[in-house]
Amino acid sequence: MRLFDTHCHLDFDCFSTEFEQHLYTARQQAVERIVLPAIGPSNWTKITTLAQQHSGLYYGLGMHPLFLNNASERHFTELRLLLERQDGLCVAVGECGLDAVIEVDMDLQERIFVQQVDIATEFKLPLILHSRKTHNRLLQLLKQKQFKYGGILHGFSGSYQQAMQFIECGFYIGVGGVITYPRANKTRQAIAQLPVEHLVLETDAPDMPLNGHQGKANHPKMIGQILACLASLKGLPEQTIAEIVWKNSNFVFSICE
Ligand SMILES: [Zn+2]
Repeated sequence: MRLFDTHCHLDFDCFSTEFEQHLYTARQQAVERIVLPAIGPSNWTKITTLAQQHSGLYYGLGMHPLFLNNASERHFTELRLLLERQDGLCVAVGECGLDAVIEVDMDLQERIFVQQVDIATEFKLPLILHSRKTHNRLLQLLKQKQFKYGGILHGFSGSYQQAMQFIECGFYIGVGGVITYPRANKTRQAIAQLPVEHLVLETDAPDMPLNGHQGKANHPKMIGQILACLASLKGLPEQTIAEIVWKNSNFVFSICE
């Protein structure tokens, strides 16, 4: 079995001291490929370097809505320069999106998001989307921009109808630890009904610990447990789902299998 963690912040400080060991532990659990999403200019260099130094690691470049305090035109110039380098390992723009739960001004969030949609179009790259209580607005903006390079709606939580609207816009649904919580009823039901052909797996480590692991740092090695939970929700063998989501993950990021 080959597993793909499509969203993991392996560059965060908590993994730094024993980085090689963490990567090894993940690989021991069949996690062969991992995408490191950017949060903003502060980690662009680090994720680029990590991916260039370790096989199986890829990255996305962009600005997460939570970290926009100093966002400026200069950063978009820098982003374009980095994307022009084409090292073959930058597979997406993101993570980017909107978040209605944080205190960051929504006009600013939208402005920065839309600029990233334009950059993704310019470089023909998919988007790694972050969305909290903003699904409808994000869909509106993507449609206004006629964005057609797809991507992943990461850490999905919401209804079947909401997920289907993103799928219709060419997005895959990022299934993470949230489905391991019995109280996440709506999301579990949505995922159970969604076609596996439009799903990918992610840990969002060190965030989003699985049920039973609250308070601990999440880890890419946990992908197998999310897969097991997804398999039981869908009533399909783990191996079957693993093969489909492996294919989906490589396809969305245009990575050769
Ligand atoms: Zn994230």
